[in-house]
Amino acid sequence: MILDGKLVSNKIKEELKDYIQENNLEYGIAVIQVGDDPASNVYIKNKKKVAEYLNVNFNHFKFDLDITDDIVIRKIESLNKDKKINGIIVQLPLPDHLNVDKIINAIDETKDIDGLTIKNCGNLFSNNPGIISCTPYGIIKLLEYYNINLEGKNAVIVGRSKLVGKPLIELLLRKNATVTVCHSKTKHLKDYTKKADLLICAVGCKHLITKNMVKRGSIIVDVGINKVDNKLYGDVDFKHVSKKAKYITPVPGGVGPMTVALLYYNLIKKES
Ligand code: NDP
Repeated sequence: MILDGKLVSNKIKEELKDYIQENNLEYGIAVIQVGDDPASNVYIKNKKKVAEYLNVNFNHFKFDLDITDDIVIRKIESLNKDKKINGIIVQLPLPDHLNVDKIINAIDETKDIDGLTIKNCGNLFSNNPGIISCTPYGIIKLLEYYNINLEGKNAVIVGRSKLVGKPLIELLLRKNATVTVCHSKTKHLKDYTKKADLLICAVGCKHLITKNMVKRGSIIVDVGINKVDNKLYGDVDFKHVSKKAKYITPVPGGVGPMTVALLYYNLIKKES
């Protein structure tokens, strides 16, 4: 069965739109971009489309590639004070000469709708209220929508990034799953993935996960986005793995749309 991120994200967006209209609310977000990375341009376009659907005021600030940390941080500080701005996003990746941690942590934690500041990451791991990173949160919402119970399940995450893998550890533990994390230094990856009742792959390597690496009847969540010859592929060989899995997310149409929907869920939920 397909875990349809497009369908579930549309439902979330509809609910948010109704909530905004019924309560006559006004929201504004700011997106900071440095340079002109084509993938970032596409992600920003997708976020803007949803903002327009929800009637959220979308402010895009695009800086030249050679900008300094100080200028970006000063912009963030002025947006932190701006009462019309409720959410601030720094579009990643930033060019290498910029200090990503310093820039992200300049965002006021209450406006950090990506959930990436140290404060929000700390809140997550301390079980305090806060904003949860959109991709991991979107994955949990997708599994919840399909009533998939994770208690006692063997969950294997491939990828340990701050953005995806690490927050997932905590979110899956909250669901009482037993969590294993694999990464580039893991030896014999298949030994782990084969035992997974739930396999979440967030690496960025086309078809890293093949049919012989998964357990029959398992749940497969593919976070990877790999563009090859202008076509999108996941980290999972969907065509063959889907024959063995009980549930699987497609790429595109799985985790991607959930991520964008959860960004706006984070914007609106914190004030509801
Ligand atoms: P990172 O590059 O930050 O992390 C990749 C992780 O994969 C690292 O932990 C790395 O290990 C691990 N890894 C690399 N090679 C292997 C391997 N051969 N076997 C096992 N593990 C490996 O990426 P992100 O977490 O930011 O993103 C991962 C993928 O998900 C990308 O394709 C990205 O585009 C996509 N993505 C999709 C989103 C969506 O909305 N659908 C949102 C965010 C990301 P190590 O730590 O040892 O280096």
